[in-house]
Amino acid sequence: MSNNNYFSGIFFGVKSLLTGLGVTMKEFFTRKITEQYPENRKELKMFDRFRGRLVMPHNDKNEHKCIGCGLCQMACPNGSIKVTTESVELPDGKKKRQLVKYEYDLGCCMFCELCITACPQGAIEFCTDFENAVFDRTKLVQQLNLPGSHVAEKPVAPKPAAPAAEKPATEKPAAPAAEAPANTNPEKPAAV
Ligand code: SF4
Ligand code: SF4
Repeated sequence: MSNNNYFSGIFFGVKSLLTGLGVTMKEFFTRKITEQYPENRKELKMFDRFRGRLVMPHNDKNEHKCIGCGLCQMACPNGSIKVTTESVELPDGKKKRQLVKYEYDLGCCMFCELCITACPQGAIEFCTDFENAVFDRTKLVQQLNLPGSHVAEKPVAPKPAAPAAEKPATEKPAAPAAEAPANTNPEKPAAV
């Protein structure tokens, strides 16, 4: 080994050591972000975009933005959402779909947020609750439109009429036209 190689080896060895020590010292003086959980449970605040569990914000009168269109249910790849609706008659004689029960199964939700993206009303969102462990799996099925289950931090806007509200929520998509020919004879009853 020549003298040049010998001294360059020492130089690069020392340089590498100092680089590593520099990183160590930088982290040593950086503000620590380790959470002392569960000791800090009272003051612990999760970051805003954390996906804890699905909620439907509503006010103290249980007014929410959901119109019962069922798009979130159709968008969910896991079948974690079940929307039950009923048809109510308005004073002007028109019929309107109304949400009866919004069930969400936290146990099979994979927090993909497809339901929130699909919702045309912004009626559902993720809250930052993360201590959701239970001993009974049935308790993971939650009704989101229960009064007081998740009070909205912002005022809940009145529900605007939307075309999607006329579509059935719990029914499957209509069969192709080829399987169900249209009844063109008004005197003949339609096939069931
Ligand atoms: S986050 Fe994904 S899996 Fe969970 S309810 Fe919404 S669509 Fe379904
Ligand atoms: S997509 Fe939105 S408005 Fe439609 S049923 Fe789901 S939560 Fe309600």
